[in-house]
Amino acid sequence: MEKFALLEIIYLIGSVTFIIGLKMMGNARSARNGNLIAAAGMIAAIFGTIFLHEGEVQPVVYALIFGAIGLGTVVGWMTAKRVQMTKMPELVSMFNGMGGACAALIGLMEFEHNAGSTGAMIAIVAGTVIGSISFSGSIIAFLKLNGTMNKPIRLPSYNIINTIMMAGVLIFSGWVVYAASANGGSLWMQSAAGPELAHGAMLFIYILFAVAIIYGILFTVPIGGADMPVVISLLNSFTGLAAAFGGFLYDNKIMLTGGILVGSAGTLLTLVMCKAMNRPLSNVIFGAFGGSSSAASGTEVKGSIKDSSATDIAILMNYSKKVVIVPGYGLAVAQAQHVIHELEQLLEDRGVEVKYAIHPVAGRMPGHMNVLLAESNVAYEKLVEMEDINPEFDQTDVVLVVGANDVVNPAAKTDPSSPIYGMPILEVDRAKNIIVNKRSMSAGYAGIDNLLFYDTKCSMFFGDAKKALTELVNEIKNLS
Ligand code: NDP
Repeated sequence: MEKFALLEIIYLIGSVTFIIGLKMMGNARSARNGNLIAAAGMIAAIFGTIFLHEGEVQPVVYALIFGAIGLGTVVGWMTAKRVQMTKMPELVSMFNGMGGACAALIGLMEFEHNAGSTGAMIAIVAGTVIGSISFSGSIIAFLKLNGTMNKPIRLPSYNIINTIMMAGVLIFSGWVVYAASANGGSLWMQSAAGPELAHGAMLFIYILFAVAIIYGILFTVPIGGADMPVVISLLNSFTGLAAAFGGFLYDNKIMLTGGILVGSAGTLLTLVMCKAMNRPLSNVIFGAFGGSSSAASGTEVKGSIKDSSATDIAILMNYSKKVVIVPGYGLAVAQAQHVIHELEQLLEDRGVEVKYAIHPVAGRMPGHMNVLLAESNVAYEKLVEMEDINPEFDQTDVVLVVGANDVVNPAAKTDPSSPIYGMPILEVDRAKNIIVNKRSMSAGYAGIDNLLFYDTKCSMFFGDAKKALTELVNEIKNLS
């Protein structure tokens, strides 16, 4: 078989593995295998491209390619192995930034080789601009998530400045495409060897690259650190789009399919997150939500609260028929997923029915709680989605909220002035008894007080989740 035909078949198989992999990632049970299948398709495509490439390749180029692959594999593998679950959004943002940078570099490299071609120039300029915005925006998102840039910086009238800047980038991009394409011509000339870039024309693509990098920074800097997961998902869709333009440029089907899949999955995820928080995307980008630490007004006690001991809670749970556990971000921080599974098994052994209530945006990334609980082998059937568990709270004897706050805040239903008003919540206040485990009265992500804590049916169980639950497990074991 011809080399080229074989490569096309590999690309086709690779594209199919991406689609199958993505579909399998929609379910916690098959997600890991889906990831492996898509990765296998990607590896086949990379090696197919290297070895079945048309034309002569210098040995030094092979050395550079394999050096880069080796370096990238070692750094990527080690970082992914070491990362804590709660730091996953940071890792995703860094990896996404690298993808954007690659797309931008392709544009910079290919600009001079495609003078006079309108289609190629559109793909090159779009890939460079979108990839650069995604790169610089992701780096800022990374710095915000790891706390290096923990305050949003808002220039006066930043929305106007950003809009003008965006319009400037678009107009300049349009001009570069026109001037370097077949119809324009001021940036290229016809030589004996074919179309050639005019002297100094590279400067324009470098300026465009620099301006897009600055725009990516200005776009992300005013957004509060707490909104970064949504922004990362949006930037992820930008990277996918930039990669898809690379696919157009090279007429490379797998790059095109992969880019479109990443672009559309990123867009859908962004919209799903906004919907679950009941906020339009414009509010995330132009609003100032959860950004300032001073918003954490919840540190102040605004009513009387009850405090319960591990012994009292152990007795209450032991004599219950039905217990629902609500995991939240604090469970992930404390790494208490194993001890919570032990608590569940202990109660089940004593004839108590135990379920987990999963809110779509509990934690700091989509599916955070599912991944965390799967890590400690909690059965998937025990994880119940919000819409299905809410009607069950009326028949629940004890709800144990572990490190969750916003996702159980009744203000989302009762207080129209609350920033989370309208967000669907787990209606734990319908249960007979509510126990809330957290370390203090501090606010969660949204930085607001939680009226649930002052509910007469609610008792606070203060302490780090892992420590407090271990104590609770020991108390239950001590009961005869
Ligand atoms: P929250 O951020 O509302 O609350 C977490 C609580 O955990 C805090 O109040 C904190 O209180 C407590 N906590 C922290 N560390 C520990 C610990 N070691 N042990 C016990 N408790 C601890 O979390 P939720 O999961 O309820 O809500 C998620 C929020 O994140 C929502 O507002 C959602 O909109 C937002 N979000 C989610 C995204 C997603 O994709 N999942 C994306 C973007 C935003 P204390 O300090 O007192 O212990």
